[in-house]
Amino acid sequence: MRFGAILRRRCPQCLKGAVFAGLFRMHARCPECGFGYFPEPGYFMGAIYFSYGMTLAIGTPVFLGLLYAGVAYWHCVAATGGFLALLFPALRQYSRVLWLHFDRTLGNW
Ligand SMILES: [Zn+2]
Repeated sequence: MRFGAILRRRCPQCLKGAVFAGLFRMHARCPECGFGYFPEPGYFMGAIYFSYGMTLAIGTPVFLGLLYAGVAYWHCVAATGGFLALLFPALRQYSRVLWLHFDRTLGNW
């Protein structure tokens, strides 16, 4: 249930309301239950851990796959960086949603 809500980028409280209103804009509160997504300034600094993990989990196989296929090192670096740049909006959204769900289930607020 929660895993599906994370995949669909839904509220950590009710698992129904959308967290994002657009590609980069978040709702201040859940449209379904009113749960606040911004409890304090700098709250989403914790999302950096998830962003870092997802970037490594996606970027490393892409980079090593290109390198193994015989592509020149700096071309691998550029291609992997470009690929991750294209994924930036999705990585940003999922890192924030994962942080919200992590904090809601394991945090104490
Ligand atoms: Zn909600």
